[in-house]
Amino acid sequence: MCIFCKILNKEIPSYKIYEDEDFYAMLDISQATPGHTLVLPKKHITNIFDLPEDLASKLFVVVKKVSDMLKEKLGFNDLNILNNSGEVAGQTVMHLHIHIIPRYSKDEINLSPVEHEYNKELLEKVYAKITN
Ligand code: AMP
Ligand code: ZN
Repeated sequence: MCIFCKILNKEIPSYKIYEDEDFYAMLDISQATPGHTLVLPKKHITNIFDLPEDLASKLFVVVKKVSDMLKEKLGFNDLNILNNSGEVAGQTVMHLHIHIIPRYSKDEINLSPVEHEYNKELLEKVYAKITN
């Protein structure tokens, strides 16, 4: 059983902050910033590609609810929402989860993708692949 399934099964403790029929939200054990939260489906789903569409739309409603709740309680104004799907993308726990990361100052963490130079050829090549 995966570690998040064990948490959902109450075999491992967690700091629960929200729960409904389909989802569970808890504090991330390693707080990137104070209030760093994970929202996960109760069903074991590996990542975004295995997520059924009905749960996908419900999930974002929960992410929105939990974001508002954290903002109200913790008093920040800014926030990052992040999902790592797959090992190359940095996923370490193979049970889908959305990171909600409150932001208090610009220099506390760096989540921005590395900026590359504008490359028309590259852009048009990938655009053709996607749209053909
Ligand atoms: P990711 O790298 O996107 O798969 O994120 C996995 C996250 O799960 C990391 O930020 C970990 O700190 C967090 N994590 C791992 N074990 C636990 C746990 N027992 N309770 C809460 N968060 C956890
Ligand atoms: Zn699981």
